[in-house]
Amino acid sequence: MDTNVQIDMEKLQNCFPGFRQKYRLIKRIGEGTFSTVYKAEDLMYDSYDNSWDIEKENDKWSTPPLVHDQRSHTTQQQQPSRRRKPKFVAIKKIYVTSSPNRIFNELELLHDLRDCPSVCPLITAFRQTDQVIAILPYFRHSDFREYYRDMTPTDTATYLRSLFTALSAVHAHGILHRDIKPTNFLYDPPTRRGVLVDFGLAEREGVDSKPCMCHDGSAVRKQRLRTALALSSGPHNGYPKNDTRPSRRANRAGTRGFRAPEVLFKCTEQTTKIDIWSVGVILLTIMCQRFPFFNSADDVEAMIEIATIFGQRRMKAAGHLHGCVFESNIPTIGSGGFELSRIILWSTCRDEKTEALTPDEAVAVKFLERCLELDPSKRISADEALEHEFLRMGLE
Ligand code: ADP
Ligand code: MG
Repeated sequence: MDTNVQIDMEKLQNCFPGFRQKYRLIKRIGEGTFSTVYKAEDLMYDSYDNSWDIEKENDKWSTPPLVHDQRSHTTQQQQPSRRRKPKFVAIKKIYVTSSPNRIFNELELLHDLRDCPSVCPLITAFRQTDQVIAILPYFRHSDFREYYRDMTPTDTATYLRSLFTALSAVHAHGILHRDIKPTNFLYDPPTRRGVLVDFGLAEREGVDSKPCMCHDGSAVRKQRLRTALALSSGPHNGYPKNDTRPSRRANRAGTRGFRAPEVLFKCTEQTTKIDIWSVGVILLTIMCQRFPFFNSADDVEAMIEIATIFGQRRMKAAGHLHGCVFESNIPTIGSGGFELSRIILWSTCRDEKTEALTPDEAVAVKFLERCLELDPSKRISADEALEHEFLRMGLE
């Protein structure tokens, strides 16, 4: 094992009094922008149950998270006398540089979502001075890059059914995940089970963002549009040097390549539909067999990538929904864009003149079009998705 990883594991074990009695760290399983995740054995594991099953167990994890304060050795919630525990846990060490609000938000939302199917529940959390660790059941999964190329439409439908089951529950709680992408949906191809993790960027709908007003012809939107139009003087060559337009503030948290158009247009009234767009990007990735599908360095490039597919006309209409004017003189952005089925045929090196999508793929594309709808109010919801014929594939 890498000596730096060993040093970090040693530090973690020394940071929390009694850690070694409770957990045995096994290895590092993930490292992201906001945390490092380790696999560990739960030494207090109750051996009467050794067949932990997330679907069956979800309803048993209904206890509030236990936030132990290591200094005072108090436990804020009483633990029920007997409950099942997984033998292996994932210990998420949240970087001390994360703001306390952000850490609290993640733990609080996980607590709210504790009974949701296909959402990885929080077992408990500990704090020692500025270091917080979250304890989650360990969920076996494979790296997306290892299996996405081999997925048949039925496999894809099963994968997405699991992801949409989680999203339906999360959205029913009025929560936006904001960071839907393959590394945050842990999927185990042999058992066809998946769990949604990482609520580090999640937020409540209507708290950070107001309810969607994109379609009520709001005065704010119209005023924005008027200002944007007045200040735009036809296509520029490249970026304007002195951009005098008023700056906009909107939550743009998420991962590049997975951000919905309304996030890129800095819409301040974002809804749960931003997560559906991100699932659409995952589906496009699987169907095109290209990961990552979008590869932009920033939001402007991301908009160009989307515009190349959807064309100027639809991008302009999408911009108008959020009081923005979309203009581009980039020659590769045509007026009408391309059909998604053609993009898939090209990406998978099929000759569009002689080869066509299979009937199952055609159903998948119809569903994809509903996920990658530029207008969030027309985009399919998680509940509607679960009823769609594509997601029902392989069920009968
Ligand atoms: P970050 O905020 O750093 O992205 P995540 O919660 O997404 O943290 O976890 C990072 C990685 O750790 C995941 O992509 C996954 O590989 C692994 N991981 C997280 N939670 C679990 C879990 N419950 N079981 C197994 N692996 C996990
Ligand atoms: Mg993550």
